[in-house]
Order: sequence, then structure tokens, then C-alpha cells
Amino acid sequence: MEKLSIIVPCYNEEAVLEKFYETVTKIMKDVTIELEYVFIDDGSKDETLQIMRLLAQKDKHVRYISFSRNFGKEAGIYAGLENCTGDYVVVMDADLQHDPKLLPRMVDILRTEEYQSVAVRRYNRKEGIRGSFSKLFFKIMAKLSGLNTKAGEMDYRMMNRRMVDSILQIAEYNRFSKGIFSFVGFDTKWLEQENIERELGQTKWNMKSLIKYSIEGITAFSTKPLILSSILGILFCLISFIFIIIIVVKTLIFGEVVQGFPTLICCLFMCSGIQLFCFGIMGEYLAKMYLEVKNRPIYLVKEYSEDKK
Ligand code: UDP
Ligand code: MG
Repeated sequence: MEKLSIIVPCYNEEAVLEKFYETVTKIMKDVTIELEYVFIDDGSKDETLQIMRLLAQKDKHVRYISFSRNFGKEAGIYAGLENCTGDYVVVMDADLQHDPKLLPRMVDILRTEEYQSVAVRRYNRKEGIRGSFSKLFFKIMAKLSGLNTKAGEMDYRMMNRRMVDSILQIAEYNRFSKGIFSFVGFDTKWLEQENIERELGQTKWNMKSLIKYSIEGITAFSTKPLILSSILGILFCLISFIFIIIIVVKTLIFGEVVQGFPTLICCLFMCSGIQLFCFGIMGEYLAKMYLEVKNRPIYLVKEYSEDKK
């Protein structure tokens, strides 16, 4: 029988994990496919690992991997993909914000239609600062990287084995899944779901981590920001050249004394500001290279479910 692997990165999800398992199992009961749950405990500080152990004892289709510390959701997804064995693989959040009711349809699409992947987008999202921030991010991202990332795109995606194997070939340290999904290509069918608020537990994102994630996403898939520094450099050379000519002409022909100490200071501040900004961009890439070159493992494992059997 064909097998579906369900990969769930979990960080402090004791409040929902069991409910997640029960909900998905119930929904998948009538689909003729073998299930394999791969829960990833991303260094949780609560009872998440304990719940995983219990579920694995109860159900032989449940496996888990527990990280030695918090490595982030992207590392969790990678570990899941690397360790799953299914013909189809779905990545979803533990908090039931990724509607499990779509699963049977996703399996059906991969089985019968010419798609290698089915992804879900959300609509009806309450527009707060976060909403507009994420919209803006997707716009910039698409423009800068030329990648096909969609507004409202979530990390909720089912893929066939071919696509999973392709993703595993991208073993970079700075992982940005939405970019990687788009980079490997393949034909994706998009489904839509309404935005579901998190019922239990807490979101692990704050504004700071979102900004960090955005910078990560842009620098991981685009080198266009580097061009920005060159353009600004040329622009400022031109401006100062024009100023020099004006001043020389004024002094030589009209005999005016050079004035404007405040102007000078303002220019100085602005130019050094822009220089530092450009340095910052370069530094960001340098830092990425540094981390990539060190070639550290993406995650480290403290415990596999197989250890306990
Ligand atoms: N998550 C994780 N490691 C982290 C942060 C989050 O594995 O360091 C998991 C989390 O348990 C959840 C998913 O990633 O299953 C999405 O997290 P969350 O619901 O907090 O994000 P949001 O839905 O608010 O974007
Ligand atoms: Mg969530």
C-alpha cells in the first residue's frame, strides 16, 4: 500500500499535539493509504516530547525525532523530510491552523492529476500590522528573487517522493522553505483555506523574528540588494561631482566665498549613513557565507522513537 508521511515540527506544543493527532487520524480513517507520523520535537521545554513518546507507544505509525535544542522550524522540516519514508509527504503545523480536512483531497490530487505537489494558501486573514507586513514581504521577495512565492502561502504542502528527494539535495544551512519549494520547481496545485486562528498554545513568532525571517528569505535567494549599494555609490559620486563644479564656478567666476558649514555636515552624515547601510548589506551576505562554509549540521538529535523500541 502507498504511504503518506505527515511531518510536524513542534516547539512547545503540549496543548495541541494530542488533539492534532486525533483530528488527523479521524480525517484519514477513510482514505486507503498507510500513515506515518513524523513528529519533530524542536527542543521543547514543556511536555511535548513526553506526549510524543506516549503516542509512539500507542500507535506504531507514529515516529518522532527529538532535537538536542531548539534549531528552528526550518531545521525541523528538513529533519522530517530526511527521515520519512512515505511515497507522499505532507508538512504541516501542529496547531491545526493548517486545515487537516484538506488532506484527503491533496492525496487524491497527487494520485490522479499531473501534479507533483499541492500547496495551500490562506485568505481572509485579519489585516493587522503583521498582515500588511507579510504582504509587503511577499511582494519584495517575489521582485527581488524572481521566485514564485505567493501572498498568504503557508508551509502546508504535500509532495511526491521525487520532489522530496530534490529538496533534500539542497542541504544548505540557511534554510528558507518557501524559497526552496519554489526553487526546485515541479508543478504545484494551489488550494485555498480560510485563515484559522490558533486555538491552543501560543505562536512562536514576534515582530523581531518575523523581520529576521524576512531578511533571511531575501538574502538566501537573491543577491540584488548588493546591486543597490553600487547604484547608490554611483548616484552619490554624480551628485558630488555636480556640486564640485557649481562651487568652482561660483568661486572663480562670481568670486563668492564658499559658505555652508551645516550643509557640509548634513552631507557628511548622509553619505556615511549610506556607506554603513551598504556595508551592512555586504556583511549580511558575508555572514551567510561564513555560516555556510562552516558546514555545520542543520540539526542534532537527542532521541529517536526507534531508541525506545
Ligand atoms: N515551530 C518549531 N520550531 C520553532 C518555532 C515553531 O518547530 O522554533 C513549529 C510550531 O510548533 C508549529 C509551527 O512551527 O507547529 C508553526 O509555529 P507557529 O504556530 O508558532 O507559527 P504561526 O502559525 O504563528 O506562523
Ligand atoms: Mg501557527
